Amino acid sequence: SVSLVYANVNLNQSQDYYEYDNLQVQWGTQDDYEICRKVGRGKYSEVFEGANVLTGEQCVIKVLKPVKKKKIKREIKILQTLDGGPNIIGLLDIVRDPQSRTPSLVFECVNNIEFKILYPRFTDYDVRYYMYELLKALDYCHSKGIMHRDVKPHNVMIDHEKKQLRLIDWGLADFYLPGMDYNVRVSSRCFKGPELLVDFQQYDYSLDLWSYGAMLAGMVGTGGMPDSDRIFRKEPFFNGQDNDDQLVKIARVLGTDKLHAYLKKYNLKLGSQFDGVFGSWQPRPWTKFVGPANKKYASPEVFDLLDNLLCYDHQERLTAKEAMDHVWFKPIREMEIA
Ligand code: ATP
Repeated sequence: SVSLVYANVNLNQSQDYYEYDNLQVQWGTQDDYEICRKVGRGKYSEVFEGANVLTGEQCVIKVLKPVKKKKIKREIKILQTLDGGPNIIGLLDIVRDPQSRTPSLVFECVNNIEFKILYPRFTDYDVRYYMYELLKALDYCHSKGIMHRDVKPHNVMIDHEKKQLRLIDWGLADFYLPGMDYNVRVSSRCFKGPELLVDFQQYDYSLDLWSYGAMLAGMVGTGGMPDSDRIFRKEPFFNGQDNDDQLVKIARVLGTDKLHAYLKKYNLKLGSQFDGVFGSWQPRPWTKFVGPANKKYASPEVFDLLDNLLCYDHQERLTAKEAMDHVWFKPIREMEIA
């Protein structure tokens, strides 16, 4: 399988565009930064809010845990390749602790509010606006030959006051080469595309559009009420207990006919752990997920968009560009022209 878009972006460049192994890092000075407070911790890092002591400029410092040098180089190379692109988190500096030689990435700071608090407050227009902004970042990185591979609310920073969105955490991102086999152990469980769950390694940028669709389903499936008042609480939208159960949760919504058609098209066999697990399940229409809590987001347009993102077959999904042209975003496009 080969991506239907941007397939040869990297091959059309010289090798040093996508080969990150011999990247020479220009190290800045760690003493230029001070740490103020901890803002997060991930699998691969501890993240602090800080400031540049020379300029006073606020920043976020991502102190990397010991991982393979190659992975660090990949993240840096990708951040540098995408720097300045729309809604891509800006990399300000790369520094190293003089003693421990622990590397840290210094980023622009986004005054983010936790999504579990922020998203339920969004109006229908806000959801359209931010999801459009996120597509700009995705189309940009895809056009540069890069798949993010970890799209999820935790990795989308939103400063609601400034109406600013940034896609962060490029630690799992990789350059796309047509026909290449990629590791399926990427992306967070609830946002993993079917290709990852059925162990199909020749995936491409379209993986990000699944994760994006799963995120959108969670946003419009959640509703604007506090937890206790919610009638239909659905975030994350596909919430599997483990990777195999994740595919089951998807099949419960999309049905099993299309799953079997997908497996057949790409000549895939499910592992024996799935024996007897799937029934004959009909697709459930999106309207079944509408309740008092989320009816403000419901529209035939958003359901059509979800239908065209959450396809088992990665080749059937809309591309980021196509999604931006979808009718659900019409109000946003009109505001942009005005
Ligand atoms: P994970 O294991 O979740 O993938 P990670 O180790 O790769 O995490 P990041 O996802 O880059 O690290 O950052 C972890 C957290 O730090 C984010 O979820 C976010 O809360 C916070 N954070 C990171 N970058 C920024 C930023 N530029 N502005 C504000 N907050 C940030």
